[in-house]
Amino acid sequence: MTHPIHEVLQRIDVADHPAAVAIGNTWQVGSGETLTAISPIDGSTLVRLPQATHSDVHLAVETSKNAFVHWRQVPAPRRGEFVRLLGEALRKHKADLAAIVSWEAGKITQEALGEVQEMIDICDFAVGLSRQLYGKTIASERPGHRLMEQWQPLGPVGVISAFNFPVAVWSWNTMLAFVCGDTIVWKPSEKTPLCAIACQQIVNQVAHDFPETPDGISSLLIGGAEVGKALAAHPDLPLISATGSVPMGRAVAETVARRLGRSLLELGGNNAMIVTESADLEMTVRSALFSAVGTCGQRCTSLRRLIVHESIAEKLLTALKKAYQKLPIGNPLDEGTLVGPLVDQRALDAMQQALRTAEEQGGTVHFGNPILADIPAGGSYVHPAIVEMPDQTEIVQQETFAPILYVMRYQHLEEAIEMHNAVPQGLSSAIMTNDIRQAEQFLSPAGSDCGIANVNVGPSGAEIGGAFGGEKETGGGRESGSDAWKIYMRRATNTINYSTELPLAQGIKFDL
Ligand code: NAD
Repeated sequence: MTHPIHEVLQRIDVADHPAAVAIGNTWQVGSGETLTAISPIDGSTLVRLPQATHSDVHLAVETSKNAFVHWRQVPAPRRGEFVRLLGEALRKHKADLAAIVSWEAGKITQEALGEVQEMIDICDFAVGLSRQLYGKTIASERPGHRLMEQWQPLGPVGVISAFNFPVAVWSWNTMLAFVCGDTIVWKPSEKTPLCAIACQQIVNQVAHDFPETPDGISSLLIGGAEVGKALAAHPDLPLISATGSVPMGRAVAETVARRLGRSLLELGGNNAMIVTESADLEMTVRSALFSAVGTCGQRCTSLRRLIVHESIAEKLLTALKKAYQKLPIGNPLDEGTLVGPLVDQRALDAMQQALRTAEEQGGTVHFGNPILADIPAGGSYVHPAIVEMPDQTEIVQQETFAPILYVMRYQHLEEAIEMHNAVPQGLSSAIMTNDIRQAEQFLSPAGSDCGIANVNVGPSGAEIGGAFGGEKETGGGRESGSDAWKIYMRRATNTINYSTELPLAQGIKFDL
């Protein structure tokens, strides 16, 4: 019997036997080891395909380099028009792409649709940006001179992405890179190859009908860490954008730094919410729940630490436990499900190990057990956990990529902020409070040290209009909105002398 995903793939015109390598418009069967993609929903096999090899990496980069030479000359607003058409194609295929995301990453349908909507939103953002790649004109200190800066296309960009946002992360990078005049070589997560094949196919279709797009504007290399390593090491990719775990980011950063390339790193988070004594408890429960159990705790911005004022801790815990008790957990494709599966058995084992360690470190675990009944057989389903901790022990300082919410208590806000910042990661953060002084303290230089800091909004669910990313071990990169586009371009400072004099720097005069 054919898998239901094949019908979806055919609507995007992906052939019956998808290939792991696309060098521009040309699909090629990889010649590396066979990769098998398994659905987190029920353990079914979605696809088997031979992976890309090192020689595919070289060919893709070479093709991307050649395409860049043409694409950089296309006026930016025309590049924006291409991205506008990509946005239209994504709108057309929204439901199909979302279905592939659900099958491969295990997201509930609403979250998968939301992820595709983020792709569409970044297209809209990038279209506007294509007419706003502004440089500055700077007052020159020399008479008859003009000083200015221009933002120029950078080159072919390597994108390495994680399984949990299998299409949005690619889109955040690619749409900005395209309007900036760059070309893309993408290595997606080996857990989500069909999402990537579908996206590449959509680009190919739109590019086919757009006169200015060179073949090779976008290439795809499906494979594991080895393919990612080869991409990071390639001297012809001036920028590597890598999204994933901290160990992966550290490896990529070292490789790219050795060749003095540029890296944009979007790595793990250990996001917290401080709940002060004046917080609206109903709002707190809703936003904590959404942030902690959404995508089964597998978002980089998932809420992992709740730091609660001792005066309201019992009340909040009681309300949260009540909400956790009745979470609709199960098949992510079923209407009404709010918590789908973990990505695989390894993730489930890591969660159970973290819960045991938390207990050893003095924690009290509520829920967190694997679910075996009323779920599709073959998937790794768990009840999200709440763990009351006596303090922020070693296990709390790690990112376990699963739905574990550690709860700690505090007496004074300074102490809460100190605890908040005392972890190696620095992605997203929140304070729930009705006290403006406390809110401002949290946002001040002495407050949250994260790339994202929210007031009365949980840490999860960023808008594409803002720059997205975090500090410390999260890697320091920024993607998506605001001025994140600048990393995809090179800044050229230009001086133009329109006088008949040549005043030399430092007053130097040559006697000629
Ligand atoms: P992962 O690190 O296992 O894999 C991510 C990607 O890196 C994959 O494509 C993988 O093949 C590749 N890779 C692995 N080792 C590599 C190496 N040495 N060199 C080059 N490439 C390599 O991560 P994952 O399990 O897919 O995703 C979960 C992690 O990603 C979590 O830590 C999560 O917080 C993080 N994440 C961060 C963001 C963000 O924006 N900050 C977004 C999504 C996910």
